[in-house]
Amino acid sequence: MPKKDWIGDRISEELQKLLSLISEKCNSLGYKAYIVGGAVRDMLLGVELSDIDITVVGDAQRLAGAFNDCHGCVVKTYPSFKTVTLDTGGLGIIDIVTARREIYNYPAALPEVYPSSLYDDLYRRDFSINAMAVSLKNPQLIDYFDGYGDLCNRLIKVLHCNSFVDDPTRILRAIRLEKRYNFRMDIKTERLMMACIKEEYPRRLSNERILAELELILTEPQRTSMLSRMQEVGLWQMLFGGSSVPSSTCRKLDRILNGGRNVLLFSVLALLEDIKEEKLLEVFSRYKTFYKKLERFRDRERSLGLEMKDKPLGRGLLYKMFAETDPEILKYLCAIAPTEHYKKNVRTYMQEIKDFMFYIDGNTLESFGVAPGPQYRVLLEGAKTQIVEDKITDIDGQLKLLKEMVQKGEYNVWELT
Ligand code: ATP
Repeated sequence: MPKKDWIGDRISEELQKLLSLISEKCNSLGYKAYIVGGAVRDMLLGVELSDIDITVVGDAQRLAGAFNDCHGCVVKTYPSFKTVTLDTGGLGIIDIVTARREIYNYPAALPEVYPSSLYDDLYRRDFSINAMAVSLKNPQLIDYFDGYGDLCNRLIKVLHCNSFVDDPTRILRAIRLEKRYNFRMDIKTERLMMACIKEEYPRRLSNERILAELELILTEPQRTSMLSRMQEVGLWQMLFGGSSVPSSTCRKLDRILNGGRNVLLFSVLALLEDIKEEKLLEVFSRYKTFYKKLERFRDRERSLGLEMKDKPLGRGLLYKMFAETDPEILKYLCAIAPTEHYKKNVRTYMQEIKDFMFYIDGNTLESFGVAPGPQYRVLLEGAKTQIVEDKITDIDGQLKLLKEMVQKGEYNVWELT
């Protein structure tokens, strides 16, 4: 059950000092400042705070100058958004925004923004549980839309009927919060969401806006239930054609989460390689370079036809399989490895073979009198495979092996068994 006597014990002493300072600066300019949004929600829920959003009834940008001496914070201003960001280092990010009213001229539009009152600023927000405020001067809950009641009842509720139509990203946000906190949408909100999906308004969102929300989802511990929920309400299918997220992909996502490394990048790769949907690739186009590298590796894996899942491979074969594979892709393969053998094969390559020192290259072949051409690649790959297999670490040994191959005219890739 959330606590209403929330504040002091949820904010560290250091952060309280900083907030008092911000409050003082606001007072001196005749402004009022409030903690708003997710921070209030999370303090009431008693969960760990991430960043803090402050709304100022006044001009947030005019405050920027006042923060230059603010406990070593890095201050950034965004004039067109009338926003100031304080990077406090250890205490997280504090975003200070001018209180605003938003007007949406058509579904999924970016809103027109006007400076306004605290009420309007809270009313423009997504859900009642995110539309509460606490004055910095007098720490009492300001709750025009009964967000506290909805927190107690574990409900996600929009503030007005047009909310999802104005901004369909809120559907993704609602699903994320539902699953993160084990809440649910109230009946009316769910109905409004379904109507918005039926009208296909989410289709009007730009790829960037979909991406931003999907990235947030993919870093959440409950992301597979969030993806399932997207499918349950038809949002996934509407955004990404007829595709669905296979259960094998969800298992991969779980493995990636348990591995705890590069969760976002690896999860995107898992989705892209399992769900061949053009729109998905468009939305995740920022990850295209990595995805292409993964595809190149998969082509190689297929063309070699080696079974890595069921047994340990020899060193030469591991070299053949993984040489020139990007280290990030290797880590990805480890993270999603379907069996211990597969993982061990990747690890052995990474730990014992990846940085193997070779002393042979095209110049060596030239010095042996081999005419430049496609045979260079064949000879060098074949020689390196054998060198790794036999652990030939010295220059003389490597040169000798390559010379023998040249003399024998062995220009075909060696088959190791
Ligand atoms: P999280 O814990 O995921 O960071 P948050 O609620 O703090 O949750 P932010 O994306 O940082 O999420 O947004 C801060 C606040 O801004 C929200 O609490 C909400 O009040 C408001 N907000 C964010 N996105 C929207 C949106 N699309 N429509 C309306 N209000 C929004």
